This record gives sequence, structure tokens and C-alpha cells, in this order.
Amino acid sequence: MALTGLKIQKYLPKTNCKECGSNTCLAFAMKLAAKKAELSLCPYASDEARELLGAASEPPVKAIALGKNGELKLGEETVFYRHEKTFVNQTALAININDDDPPEAIEKTLADIRDYLLERVGEQLTIDMVAVTQRKMPPAQFAGLVRHAWETTGRPLVIVSDQTEALAAAAEAVKGSHSVLASATRENVEQLKTIAVENGHALAVTAPDLDGLAQLTTDLKAAGFNELILRFQTHSLAEQFQVNAIARRAALKENFKPFGYPSLTFIQDPDSLAMTVSAVTEISKFGGICVLPTFDPAQLVALMTLRMNIFTDPQKPIQVEPRIYEIGDPQPDSPVFVTTNFSLTYFIISGEIENSGLSAWLVVPECEGMSVLTSWAAGKFSGSSIARFVKESGLEEKITSRQIIIPGYVAQISGELEENLPGWSVVVGPQESADLDSFISSFRK
Ligand code: SF4
Repeated sequence: MALTGLKIQKYLPKTNCKECGSNTCLAFAMKLAAKKAELSLCPYASDEARELLGAASEPPVKAIALGKNGELKLGEETVFYRHEKTFVNQTALAININDDDPPEAIEKTLADIRDYLLERVGEQLTIDMVAVTQRKMPPAQFAGLVRHAWETTGRPLVIVSDQTEALAAAAEAVKGSHSVLASATRENVEQLKTIAVENGHALAVTAPDLDGLAQLTTDLKAAGFNELILRFQTHSLAEQFQVNAIARRAALKENFKPFGYPSLTFIQDPDSLAMTVSAVTEISKFGGICVLPTFDPAQLVALMTLRMNIFTDPQKPIQVEPRIYEIGDPQPDSPVFVTTNFSLTYFIISGEIENSGLSAWLVVPECEGMSVLTSWAAGKFSGSSIARFVKESGLEEKITSRQIIIPGYVAQISGELEENLPGWSVVVGPQESADLDSFISSFRK
């Protein structure tokens, strides 16, 4: 069970010295219980307290770092629902290749994985991993293919085989990639643990039922190996959903350490719609690594967009840097638009202006990443704040135009803006971005 603040307080010095940043040891204990502080902030905690509380203050889902420099992070989740706080590390998406695929198909898929790049609201989204599955190749040849996949894409791998010998050869061939070996069972776990440790990889573990899986991870942890990934054996989407939720709930709510690891799921549905639904379930409900059977850019756009929405911190809106943006090749007499620095708003407005073929100046003041109406309601997008930003930006020295176009939803700030920007006139633009194109057409006449 998770330790409560009162229980944790018993292990603290109770001197209320405040050096941890809390006013009392009890307040600090409450923060530790809520996993909002680290025990290391108290310089006076005894060794006994460190030992007892160290484990309790670990994230309930262990952090696993994959990739050459540990750049791909999994786990570390602390909440069951995103709105409770935020999700930390997004579901990693992998594409599978089989060793008996035609060589040219393998090359094409590897190149597709390497080159895939989706830009969305200023973020560059790529494929995280490559899964390589052994079906026919002998171990040495399979190891060569795995190494080729790593060298071509630079991504950590999910190395899949039923043969310990093949996993051993491949693990050594990509030593340093911090990949995942899949999968250890009760029968081969000792050998695979040694192979994973020697080559610096994580180990996916699997068992026919949850009890067996919990026992495996418990034994591995007791033996000193904790770089583990859970691979559940399920037979339907409903079961996949249920098991993911059971494991995550056990880890978070009951502090049940045997399930405190990220998971690995292979999507194997027969058609692309069913495949997408399964992948959506993984992304939405606690998946660690989701392996897709094929490279399908249309499917990836949907999955990556969904994933971005779910794993964006709801307390920190995605935002662009407040500044004056040049759309196209604006001249001193080009029109001046203004909007907020909420990423979605910025990219929609800048995209609409760009698509219209108009060159313009886009004024984007600091609005803490809020949308137009929200930032106006919060007093962050007012006539005076926009005017101050325009003056401080130096825009007036660059342009001859003295007309500024504001979003239609905040028509009420036009008077205040004109008052604070002497010599300027304010034009009220459309409320909806979809109407910008026709507004710009009429504006040009
Ligand atoms: S630093 Fe340690 S002893 Fe001092 S108030 Fe914080 S918890 Fe208590």
C-alpha cells in the first residue's frame, strides 16, 4: 500500500527546520506522499528513512530509457487520468518488419521509418522504434538484420524471437542501442536476463496470466534486474483494454510494484480500421510501446495527433514564442494581424494567411498560451497589452501601415487599442479562421 503523509512523518526528524522548503516535517511528508517532493530535499533524513521512503517515493510506473543516449523515455506515470495532473511519457510507436519479408520491402519500410516526419503545431513527430521479428533467419543472419535496422533508422529496437540464441546474437549486435528483448518467459528468463544485462537492454516479460507475470517481475527485481517491460497475453481488444487498466490501477492506486512497468503490445488486427482502433486503445489507455504491423502514413497521422493531444500537459497549453511573425515576404505597407500565442490558434491563423497568398505581419503577444476568448477573459489579450507589445517590439519602425486587424471575437477591444496606439486604426476581422480567406480577398480590393 502507498504510504500516507502521517506514516511518512514518523521517519522524518520532526525538527521543522524548513530546509526542505516546507514549513513543517508533516507538510513535507504530505508532499512526499503525493509524490510532489523528493526525499533528497531533507538533508537530515536517516539512512533508515531513505531506505524505507526511497522505494515509496519512486514513481509507481518505473522510468525506462531506451535509445543510444536514453532519449526515448517510457513510464514514470503518476496519475490514472490525465486531468488529475498530466501524463508524463507518451506511448512509443514502433513499426514491425519480419525477417522473411522481401528484402526490398524491408529496405523500403526502414527508409520510411527513418524519413517519416509529421509537423504539427510546431512539433516534429517521428516514429520512435523499429520492431524486428525473427521467423526464418538463422541467428547470425537475424542479428545482421537487426543491426541494419538500427544503423538505418537510429531508433531503438524491439527484438522479437522465440529463440534465445537469436535474441543473444541480436542483442550483442546492437549493444549500446538500449533496446528491448522480447520476450522472456518462465522457461528462458534466466538466460535472457543475463543477455539483457550484458548488452544493456531492457527485457519484455510475458506469462499466460497476470499472476504468472507478477511473479516473473518480482523474481527479476529481487535478482537485481529492473529494466522490465510488461507484455500481456490477451485475445481481444476488450481484454487488452481491461488488462492495461488493471495493471496501471494496481501500480498507481495500490503501489503494486510487480505491475509498475511500461507495457509492450503488438497490434495484429486483420484490417487497418481494427488495427487503428487497437492502437488508439493503447495510446489512450496506458500503452508503453505499441508495435504496428505496417507503415501506413495515413494511420500514423491520426495516431500521432491523438497521442499529442493526450500527452500534452493540460496545465501548460502548447504555445509559440511571443513576437512579430513575418508571413510570406511582408513589406512596410503589408497588413498587420494580431492573434494570441496559443499554438493551435497561431498555426491556424498563420496558415490561413499564408494559403491566401498574402504577405503580412502577424503580431503575437504573450498570452500564456491561451486562445483568443480565454486570454481576453483572463485580461491577457486587451487593447492596452497588445498596444504595449506593438510599441516594445519595434514594429512601428519597420512598417508604414498603421492599420491592425484584430480577431472578430474581441471586437470590443478596438476602442481601447486605438486609444493606446495613437495614429493607428483598428479593423475587426472575422470571428472564425475559416472566414479569413474571404476577409482577406475583400480586404485586398
Ligand atoms: S528539512 Fe527535513 S527536518 Fe527539516 S523540516 Fe524538512 S523534513 Fe523536517
